[in-house]
Amino acid sequence: MLIVMHHSATEEQVRCVAQAVAALGLTAQPIPGGQRIAIGVLGNRGYVDDATIRDLPGVMEIIHVSKPYKLVSRDFHPAPTVVRVGSVNLGDGFPPVVMAGPCSIESQEQILEAARQVKGAGAHILRGGAFKPRTGPHTFQGLGAQGLEFLHVAAREVGLPAVTEVMRIEQLEMACRHVDMLQIGARNMQNFDLLKEIGRLRFPVLLKRGLSATVEEFLSAAEYIVAEGNDQVVLCERGIRTFETATRNTLDLSVIPLVQSLSHLPIIVDPSHATGRRFLVPVMARAALVAGANGLMVEVHPAPEKALCDGAQSLTGEGFCRLMHELRFLQECLAGMASSVAGPSA
Ligand code: PEP
Ligand code: MN
Repeated sequence: MLIVMHHSATEEQVRCVAQAVAALGLTAQPIPGGQRIAIGVLGNRGYVDDATIRDLPGVMEIIHVSKPYKLVSRDFHPAPTVVRVGSVNLGDGFPPVVMAGPCSIESQEQILEAARQVKGAGAHILRGGAFKPRTGPHTFQGLGAQGLEFLHVAAREVGLPAVTEVMRIEQLEMACRHVDMLQIGARNMQNFDLLKEIGRLRFPVLLKRGLSATVEEFLSAAEYIVAEGNDQVVLCERGIRTFETATRNTLDLSVIPLVQSLSHLPIIVDPSHATGRRFLVPVMARAALVAGANGLMVEVHPAPEKALCDGAQSLTGEGFCRLMHELRFLQECLAGMASSVAGPSA
């Protein structure tokens, strides 16, 4: 439930409303915002009878929020959230952020080479998997703790923040000491204990959309993290499972503007896992920016043909350099379009 107060409501009236909410055994959370004074109501398991609240002085409107997510919604928090990863700002009002690097960390040399390539091409965050959620148990499972060390050294060497995936609660502490952002992969989007624990950490998180998650399930997963106090969440569309087998997944670009209308959290696109095919990655990356994505995650490997994981969808360093060049040009075009649509007075 959301209580919207009159613009002229006094602090005393807001306090009285908060007390009436507390008297119902619920939590009142003031919602900051220049446009309105609002109070979010949390803690209810179902419909709340607002009879003791709606006629209180200063109350303008009561909105019953029926969605399972509240804190991540625009209703509760109209202003966009900006997530800070190292010194990089990710969110509305900032240029798109590009995370790039190999699917898996394979050796110190490999991640160093990849780090130099992506940094040289203009990426903002280095990615690399140490704990890998592989479909079958007989494939490369990642280097684990040693991989984190290699990633840390490479990121420091080139001066980029790093992101890596965690699969279990026990990996969190070690991962936080080595990287600047934690990734929750598609397969763990509904690992609720992991989500809650990361929510308690207040550490930047990249939450990938589940293999066949609806938008409501996706945002509800983010709600688990934010409900524990961590609002530094970036969503990631990485394609969903459909009947189509010609691509690894089906990239659902419409969720970009859709999620941005429903939630204040930033959202990026991973065209590598979405397509599974190298030649499709650049064009889908460009399409993602046109759709308004706040950033991209792209797999890049110094020698994709030798990659232990996801080589077929990995760009070479050279291919990534070309893509970054195109993206810079595209950004200028999009900025030019925005200002010409806004007109000369803007
Ligand atoms: C990855 O980023 O390497 C990965 C495993 O992605 P996803 O969870 O989207 O499959
Ligand atoms: Mn991968």
